[in-house]
Amino acid sequence: MIDPPAVAVADPTSPGPGPEHEHEHPPTLVAPSPAVPGKQQWGRVLICGGTNWLALGKKGLPVDPDSPDLASPHTLRSLSNVKATGVYTSHSACHAIVIDVAGAAYLFGRNASSCLGLPTSTSPSISHRSPRRLLPSELGAPGGTKFTHAAVGRNHSLLVGDDGSVWSAGQNAHGQCAQPAGGEVGGFRLIGGGWARGKQREKAVFAAAGVNFSLVLTESGRVYAFGSGEHGQLGNGRTGERIAQANKTTYDVEDDPVLIKGPLEGKKVVQIACGQQHAIALTMDGLAYVWGFNGYCRLGLGHQKDVLLPTLVPQYAGANPLTRAAFVAAGPTATIVIDRQRMLQMAGKFKTSGAGSVGQPFTTFRYFAEIQGCKMLLASAGGVTHFATADDDDSSGTTGVMTIAWGQNAINSELGLGEGQPKSTPKPVRVETLNGIDVLALAAGQNTSFFLARPNEALGELPRFPETVPAPNLCVVCDEDREARGEEALECEKCDTPYHLGCLDPPLEGIPEGQWFCPKCEREFVEVVLPLPVPGGKKPVGGKEEEPKKRGRPAKRKAEEDSEPERKVKVKK
Ligand SMILES: [Zn+2]
Ligand SMILES: [Zn+2]
Repeated sequence: MIDPPAVAVADPTSPGPGPEHEHEHPPTLVAPSPAVPGKQQWGRVLICGGTNWLALGKKGLPVDPDSPDLASPHTLRSLSNVKATGVYTSHSACHAIVIDVAGAAYLFGRNASSCLGLPTSTSPSISHRSPRRLLPSELGAPGGTKFTHAAVGRNHSLLVGDDGSVWSAGQNAHGQCAQPAGGEVGGFRLIGGGWARGKQREKAVFAAAGVNFSLVLTESGRVYAFGSGEHGQLGNGRTGERIAQANKTTYDVEDDPVLIKGPLEGKKVVQIACGQQHAIALTMDGLAYVWGFNGYCRLGLGHQKDVLLPTLVPQYAGANPLTRAAFVAAGPTATIVIDRQRMLQMAGKFKTSGAGSVGQPFTTFRYFAEIQGCKMLLASAGGVTHFATADDDDSSGTTGVMTIAWGQNAINSELGLGEGQPKSTPKPVRVETLNGIDVLALAAGQNTSFFLARPNEALGELPRFPETVPAPNLCVVCDEDREARGEEALECEKCDTPYHLGCLDPPLEGIPEGQWFCPKCEREFVEVVLPLPVPGGKKPVGGKEEEPKKRGRPAKRKAEEDSEPERKVKVKK
């Protein structure tokens, strides 16, 4: 769950309506709405932790020097020119999906069970160096349709379009792709059932995925479930447990989306989140409902019995609106709620020792003393990690956002605390490597962590991954070294290709403010969505991005780093 805190911070001071008034209020709070007035709603993708997708979580596989563990957040170079509105992964996944302002999806990571929409046999993984770019029109949607949201399970993925469609790919043994159960779905396929069927047709706006089940939230706030009902994940009051053959028990599998009713009936749900086999839903009135597998008391209800129907969490059901819930998230074996006082609380098991571990799970939602005073915004839980953003009261901070992390047994540096810092911390700490970074979204994966960062000066100072890429040493327009004459060259943020200011068309007067991308990278992801520029027409390049302050990278820097006095031109005209 990484959506911005429109819900979380929605007017915590106003007297909220009681449950009995629920339907009298207009549906102003919709989870996918990214609106924070006045704030730029796209960012650049940052990554830390494991990047060796095929080896993550597995032992004895060879180390790949091109896919290291990143000790601190890096700009993901391949998407550095993408204006991302969302980044999605899950606590149980080794793949990720990024969505940009143009509505394209970028998929990369481990392609287990074809979860990236390509056959695993031909594409066991998709590199972070060249993510797969996908448009809804490639899946049969009308031109102009945009992806707006995505959800990632363990080995399956869901894509949501602005037309209300949902597409699925990957593991479907339990019907978690809402396609006829069995095997896997090798390419993204439209889900035709449930909310999308017949006269009841509604728009899907949001999705969430566990290991073997999925949830879809519609525009009107209804929740549909599909996949395995073994632990009550489908919220339909049953598991369907029965003896199929001697010594073999089977459970309900619903590969046609089923509307979750029971206590959710008539409620307007605004946000949903899935653990591995449990779920939490937040209503517009700040009520939290939980269901599914309840080992280690992860549902926060004070017991360990599986819960087959959405059940109100009493802690957030009080008459005082300030005690209600404002944001929900789920880890593999835990659940997170940020309440309307913006305090973060957790239930279940999320550590290997001490309070919150197997022996002493949090049986109900409890806060952390270390961050009790923080005004929390967002949270995300990975395999063993937990991230949260909060208001930054430090007056030296320029962004007003601080990122907090905690988690035990992190082995791939996925907490991102930096080189030479501990890989694990049982207590929440400030992520110093993100000081000054305006984080607008969090997505914690099994062994990898992602952030979206609004462009600012500090973002430009972050390392890039990969650190270097093959690039020519001389301006690719004139192929001349004019440094002696004092002619400055710019280096593209993404591909490192140098251009003299005067060799650009039109020429630039000086080094531009903000990140600078070369004409090729500027156009890279634009051509498919927008009409191609008129041949011969002048297209302004560089320096005009609506981002403040970071200076373009002068190519001189590269020359200084080169120890060879004679620079070799790798690309010839
Ligand atoms: Zn030149
Ligand atoms: Zn470039």
